[in-house]
Amino acid sequence: MNENNCGRYGPYGGRYSGETLMHALQELEDAYRKAQKDPAFGEEYARFLREYAGRPSLLYHAERMSRDLGTTVYLKREDLNHTGAHKINNVLGQALLAMRMGKKRLIAETGAGQHGVATATAAAYFGLECDVFMGKEDMIRQSLNVYRMELLGATVHEVTDGTATLKDATSEALREWSRRVDDTFYVIGSVVGPHPYPEIVRDFQRVIGDEIRVEMLEKHDRLPSALLACVGGGSNAMGTFYPFIGDPSVRLMAAEAGGEGVESGRHAATVAAGTTGVFHGMKSLFLQDDEGQITPVYSISAGMDYPGIGPEHAYLHDTGRAEYFSITDDEAVDAFEYLSRMEGIIPAIESSHAVALLTKMKSEFTPDDIVVVTISGRGDKDVEAIGRYRGKIR
Ligand SMILES: *Cc1c(COP(=O)(O)O)cnc(C)c1O
Repeated sequence: MNENNCGRYGPYGGRYSGETLMHALQELEDAYRKAQKDPAFGEEYARFLREYAGRPSLLYHAERMSRDLGTTVYLKREDLNHTGAHKINNVLGQALLAMRMGKKRLIAETGAGQHGVATATAAAYFGLECDVFMGKEDMIRQSLNVYRMELLGATVHEVTDGTATLKDATSEALREWSRRVDDTFYVIGSVVGPHPYPEIVRDFQRVIGDEIRVEMLEKHDRLPSALLACVGGGSNAMGTFYPFIGDPSVRLMAAEAGGEGVESGRHAATVAAGTTGVFHGMKSLFLQDDEGQITPVYSISAGMDYPGIGPEHAYLHDTGRAEYFSITDDEAVDAFEYLSRMEGIIPAIESSHAVALLTKMKSEFTPDDIVVVTISGRGDKDVEAIGRYRGKIR
């Protein structure tokens, strides 16, 4: 195991990896640095976001919700993107980078299937080969997404190690990458993993915060009072927060998956209950036992049950720049129904955690405040599960 000092966020981040991947990660970093300096890369990426993903996604003034909560609420509508969530922003960027590096094959890990579907979509769009690694348990629970990936031309590989869920799929994708680095690009799904991934994913997601900033200044000639987003690995939240980190007047508030409550032990509340460790190539906060074994995680929201958090979030938490709150399944489901009734927008159950955070914290805001909630994705995929949870569907 080698350690490399770059990509640090305070004590977090870094690059913890074996020999083969150290080389591949350096190659990736070099290619990314070159791409960053090449205006053609930025222009091409912007064009794909516009023409294929459907950006800019709109900032929507939620008037009924504003009246109800006693503050001014805007929603950042990532749910309107092609494939229905923010994940497309990141996969289009990484796929473009893969092609610059001459790689013909994309691989990805997936839990609920959303990142796998987004990667398979980008692969189809650019005509690349695509292999997705998914835990056996998740393949059973999310069979529709398995078919969706196949429909898009990807091959889905069943992972039976460990708990046969997302963390095991991620480990397998990293192993597969070290087996076939020459023609393969590993598209990681959140601001996690060894350097330079957390930085690359953040840079491809910052379009969310950049657009919020431009529209806010145009509409109100001021910055928002607070930004709220949900956190699984942390990519939609990091994309929302990042352009505002240097603006101390803007509160950055993140909602993590509290599952059945942090006391119950059935949750994915990494900041509330995690400790520092090294896993999946990075130093960060993880849910682990005293021996450093990663513990099973649970959330009603499949997109948020990762046992870690991106290293930059761990740092923003330590420094107090961003605040992290746990939202339970029940609170998220209430918010799922609330936004549906109040605005006619059915949010993803992940995004519902951010909506729940606002309804919980409403007393901290006045009508003069402007708060922006990032709706990371649409809720069509969750309607059936929530209907069952409520006993409305059998
Ligand atoms: C995957 C996903 C998330 C969680 O991932 P982050 O990296 O924390 O953003 C949140 N919302 C939706 C809709 C997702 O698909």
